[in-house]
Amino acid sequence: MYIVFLGAPGAGKGTQAAKIANELGLAHIATGDLFRQAIEVGNDLGKKVKKYMVKGVLVPDEITVGLIMERLAVLAQTRVIFDGFPRNLEQAKALDGALKKQNKAIDQVVYIKVAEDELVQRLSKRWICRNCQTPYGPHTPPRVSNQCDRCGGRLYQRPDDQPETVRKRLKVYFSETAPLIEYYRQQGKLLEVDGSGRVDSVANNIISALGERQFIAQ
Ligand code: AMP
Repeated sequence: MYIVFLGAPGAGKGTQAAKIANELGLAHIATGDLFRQAIEVGNDLGKKVKKYMVKGVLVPDEITVGLIMERLAVLAQTRVIFDGFPRNLEQAKALDGALKKQNKAIDQVVYIKVAEDELVQRLSKRWICRNCQTPYGPHTPPRVSNQCDRCGGRLYQRPDDQPETVRKRLKVYFSETAPLIEYYRQQGKLLEVDGSGRVDSVANNIISALGERQFIAQ
């Protein structure tokens, strides 16, 4: 089972994808997290992608698609959530092509919808764990100030959550990523979910919608 999580920056894709992957026992592949980890350790990948991420633009497809293909080749799991990938039509087609070669396909695309004003609000108040990337916000604060509940790592504000970069990332989302909504809708794979509620209730809505479509047991 292959599920894509789609939505604007700040829609809660990462939070929901991690939670649902954990609850349902799926592998979770988040390109943004992989890039941030590479920057953190300072490897070649990190050096290549940093300049794109700080500007709020997409990392070139050859790097991103290459990374995903490497992951897919070594992944034993065939129950996967893709979070933040694909981010444009070229990536979506590359993913479809790679899965097709193994007689597989994307099963569902969970599109998390949140109003634009709320996205900006959320991103400006978001803190994430430097170690495991878990996000925190006003409605989901850490138990101990500045410390991750999951791993005890220190929290920081992403440099690309600064207002000017947020505006750029939203622009990039609407021009490059939003066309994927129609791409997957036409394939009958789009599952639209209101992402404006609390984390648990959005997660429950996603799980029951996947259950209704018989992608998971309820
Ligand atoms: P995210 O953590 O998903 O918000 O991603 C943070 C940044 O990583 C984006 O603004 C892009 O610069 C880069 N990025 C993440 N996923 C992709 C992707 N699929 N294609 C290109 N760039 C990406």
